[in-house]
Amino acid sequence: MIEKIAKLKKEKNAVILAHFYQPNEIQAIADFVGDSLDLSRKAADCDADIIIFCGVHFMAGSAKILSPDKTVMIPEMNAGCPMADMVTAEDIKRLRKEHPDAAVVAYINSSVEVKAECDICCTSSNAIKIVNSLPNDEIIFVPDKNLGSYAQQFTDKKVNLFSGYCPVHNRITVADIEKARAAHPGVEILVHPECPEDVVAAADFVGSTAQIIDYSSNSDKKEFVIGTEYGVLYPLEKKNPDKKFYMLAENFTCANMKKTTLEDVLECLETGKNEIEIDEEIRRKASASLLRMLEVK
Ligand code: SF4
Repeated sequence: MIEKIAKLKKEKNAVILAHFYQPNEIQAIADFVGDSLDLSRKAADCDADIIIFCGVHFMAGSAKILSPDKTVMIPEMNAGCPMADMVTAEDIKRLRKEHPDAAVVAYINSSVEVKAECDICCTSSNAIKIVNSLPNDEIIFVPDKNLGSYAQQFTDKKVNLFSGYCPVHNRITVADIEKARAAHPGVEILVHPECPEDVVAAADFVGSTAQIIDYSSNSDKKEFVIGTEYGVLYPLEKKNPDKKFYMLAENFTCANMKKTTLEDVLECLETGKNEIEIDEEIRRKASASLLRMLEVK
């Protein structure tokens, strides 16, 4: 199957992009592995005609927003992100009426429609920078209450939090941190800012998936406890064969990210199934929010 995928990919001038949380066998066949923003940039910059985006729906959507002339496909159409589905464009319209002076920042984990309604997007790597780049003293941050509350700690602005959360990261507790400290004394605990506020406060390092990979790869230390989705172990161990990584909690797995199979990737290439299509007017507005983010240095 892997040989068939490689052959078809070449024939059709396609690239396979995979998120860090994808199953190992998908990361292994991908041309690029990265976080959602990095992959969208790769999608826009590469000269392929077809992008097979192995991730969840909003990620393939972001790739299509930035690459309107390319064919973008997602191997498993039902791979959604529950957090992205927690906020709608209607919610943003309502919140704008309640906070007329506030700017709306939408985490990239949101639908195309939400991106089209917000003022600017952000990622887990740049949320603090984006919030502080805005002239407004008041911010509406959607959908992730945990990432918004993390950003609030690094700004004087008033950040109005939405009620969304990632079910995978939000279930981590301080008890998990205490358990990991007892099992691995002296080992640093690195967590994602989608984890709850008290977990973030109790950890040694907070960063996006890419920042966690960079931090542990550049450190002289040899062991780390990892507080984000299980799939990140694949790039971590590949990059750092001499280091040991322990998961902060059992079953730290995003079921939606694990829906992609090699069969689905092959079927996309063979049949062109699951192409992402976006209304041009909405795409244009969503693109402006993403591009505004990319312009923030
Ligand atoms: S890990 Fe959380 S935020 Fe990421 S895709 Fe899964 S549910 Fe969504």
